[in-house]
Amino acid sequence: MTQKHFRKRDAILSYLQQSKAHPSAETVFGELKGEIPDLSLATVYRNLRLFKEQGLIMSVATVDGVERFDGNTETHTHFICNHCHSVLDLMDIEVPESLKAQVLAIAGGQVDGCQLCFTGKCRECQNKGSESA
Ligand code: ZN
Ligand code: MN
Repeated sequence: MTQKHFRKRDAILSYLQQSKAHPSAETVFGELKGEIPDLSLATVYRNLRLFKEQGLIMSVATVDGVERFDGNTETHTHFICNHCHSVLDLMDIEVPESLKAQVLAIAGGQVDGCQLCFTGKCRECQNKGSESA
């Protein structure tokens, strides 16, 4: 790998790690192409796939048909707004033991993790009223 490849790789990874917006590949590309003029969308996609395989980032959800990524791989819950498509972190939500027990009763085996994702209307969209509905 050349120095150039590392520079792109590092820029993409650090962008994801500092972003709280859970960006799509297109958003990452749009934000970094000014800084790295020879960056291609294909390179962004390839690096995101690699980071995901390596456990450096995770895929949060597909929102409005577009995959969204998170540089924070710590287990946490998300809220997805169906109106503005923002993805919010809910860091302090605990998965209740009773829910795990219900899952085990059906699936058997063992529970290793749980990624909860709520959908609805975010506070900002709610405050805007019905105009965006
Ligand atoms: Zn919203
Ligand atoms: Mn998150």
